Order: sequence, then structure tokens, then C-alpha cells
Amino acid sequence: MKLHMVDVLGQYHKIKAEVDAAIHAVLESGQFIQGKEVGDLERRIAGYLGIGEAIGCASGTEALQIALMALGIGPGDEVITTPFTFVATAEVIGLLGARPVYVDIDPRTYNIDPRLIERAITRKTRAIIPVHLYGQPAEMEEIMGIARKHGLKVIEDAAQALGASYKGKKVCTFGDIGCISFFPSKNLGAFGDAGMVVTDDKEIAARMRMIAAHGSRVRYYHEVLGINSRLDTIQAAILGVKCAYLDQWNAARRHAAARYTKMLEGSPVVPPFIAPHAEHIFHQYTLRVPRRDELAAYLKENAIPHAVYYPVPLHLQKAFAMAGSSRGDFPVTEKATEEVLSLPMHTELTEEQLTCITDTVKSFYARH
Ligand SMILES: *Cc1c(COP(=O)(O)O)cnc(C)c1O
Repeated sequence: MKLHMVDVLGQYHKIKAEVDAAIHAVLESGQFIQGKEVGDLERRIAGYLGIGEAIGCASGTEALQIALMALGIGPGDEVITTPFTFVATAEVIGLLGARPVYVDIDPRTYNIDPRLIERAITRKTRAIIPVHLYGQPAEMEEIMGIARKHGLKVIEDAAQALGASYKGKKVCTFGDIGCISFFPSKNLGAFGDAGMVVTDDKEIAARMRMIAAHGSRVRYYHEVLGINSRLDTIQAAILGVKCAYLDQWNAARRHAAARYTKMLEGSPVVPPFIAPHAEHIFHQYTLRVPRRDELAAYLKENAIPHAVYYPVPLHLQKAFAMAGSSRGDFPVTEKATEEVLSLPMHTELTEEQLTCITDTVKSFYARH
């Protein structure tokens, strides 16, 4: 049985005619930069989320960078975030000359622990970036309460959670700005790099649009230093086709996750926590497991794809030495990096594949 961690090709083949037609329409239009598909997608995503403004950009990483730039964050500023995330979240903070200040995670959700945020706030703190890791919404009510009390901005890193909701409201619509990634393996994936920023604030939206276009509103007149970060027209066309399937695909992921959890009952693994007030969309199906590295080696021997997101917390990465943290500072995160393991998760998983994967996990614990 051929198993994949992510099956981008299997998904493409199911909608090939529609996607190919959309790509060809762009090729024939000749509008490769800022073609009409870009604006169409911005309106569709804004409508889907129920938010006022959406601006396409080149990647999820640049979405975060544009958001921070629009809020004027730079040298001397501190931005609170989680050390248990993909590097991009904190990378852009450092690149802009600000300092990432980490706050440990909740051991059940793997998301920033709101109970620990206030003690990390200083006079230099400007913003909080919660990450909805693995597709699980962060505790936005508590986080927004703290941010409002201290006059801080909130940028949601929703790269892994487009379509997830918290207390009946979509993530990306709680903070001042929401950042989306359309990296191919994300729940709504392009066939290359692409991203988007969303907001309900017209002024922030105008600034973000300007920053993404070399700091200009009118061509060749530059008001601020910006970057070149455009959502490619071909990618927008592909995403325009795919976004009609997003809810259905997220439901397929939720179904696969529920089957995994059911099939793994009785084994010593800890399945993903399902908060009663949030809708997890399972960008990843991540377990906390005993003897993680031994299990990983056993899965490899048995040709079962798996991954560790993430093996090294950001505060212990060489690139973030400037943040001044050391081992022991964020014990819940450090423990998670040693215990988590993600199993294949995508929209094409069959019952037979799920059985094969979970049987292999169970056989490891039966024998070892
Ligand atoms: C993927 C990801 C990003 C970056 O998105 P790209 O489109 O790959 O640049 C940022 N944050 C998180 C949590 C991600 O998973």
C-alpha cells in the first residue's frame, strides 16, 4: 500500500479538469501579475471568513511580515509568541529588528498558554502572535482580553487553520490581522507559494496593500519602504477552484482524525485534544507518544510515513540566540518536542490506509 504524509497529487487528480481550465484561462489572458483571479480570490476568502478586507501576498511568511510592518513593529519592540511553531512566526519578528518573546504552551492544545502571557508583557511589548497549531484554534477569547487590557495588537498566525472556528467564529477574525498560508501542504494549498492577510480595519488593510506593493498606492510613487509580495495570478486561479472544496476537505480531515483516534483506543498514545468550544481542522493529526524516537524508527522500517512537527523549539534554535533563552525556560514546549509525532493527514485517506497505519502503531506497543 502506497501511503503519503500529504497527498497533493491524489487531490489534484480528482479536480484536474477544473484546475487545468482555470490555469489555461490565465495563460490565455496574459495577466500574470495581478490578474482578475487575484481580486476574485481576495473577495471569496473575505466572504468565507466574514471579514472586510483580504489582500493576497506571496507566502504565509510574508503575510506575517506585512502584518508586522503595517503595525509599525521594528527595533526596540517585543512581540509575544509561542516557541512551538514553524520558524516563520518568529523569523519575521527578528528580521524586522524586533525581539520574539516566547510564552510556553498548553500541554493539551500545544497552543500558547494564555495564563502565562501577562507575566511576559513589558513596556516594550507591542503585539501577540498566537498560532493555531495543527489546525487547533488558540484560546482567542482570553488572548484578546489580555491584548485589549494592555493595548497590544494581535496577529493570528492561521497558516495551519484556515476554516477552523472558535466559539462559532472563524479564526483570523479575532485579532487585528489574520495571516494565511496557501503552501501546497496546507488545508487550502496552491501549487506553489502563496499567502494572504485579512483584517476588518480599512486603514490597516490599505497599509498592508501598499507595503506588499513596494510601499506604493500609485505606481512609481512610494510612500513607505515596502516589499514585492504578490499573490501570483496562476496560484489565485488554482485556489479559486480549490476553495469551493475547503469545508468538504476539512470535514474529510476531521473524519480521518476521528477514525485514527477510535482505532488507536487502548494503545498508550495520547490523541489530539478536542476542545468543546473549538472546531479543529486537523492540518496535522499529532499524537503525544511514549518512546517517540523508537516508534518513529519502527514506522520507518514498516514504510509508514510520519513526521515530527517540530523537533526543536524556537528558543533553542541557533538563529534565535538573540532572544536570549536557554534550555529549561519553556518546559512544556521542550517536553512536547520530545513526544509529538504526526501521522499521515490529508483528504484522500481511506479506511484501509487508516487501519494499516494504526495497526502498525499498535503493533509497536504490543511488541516493545
Ligand atoms: C506554513 C506556516 C507558515 C509560513 O507559511 P509559508 O506560506 O510557507 O511561508 C507560517 N506559520 C506557520 C505556523 C506555518 O505552518
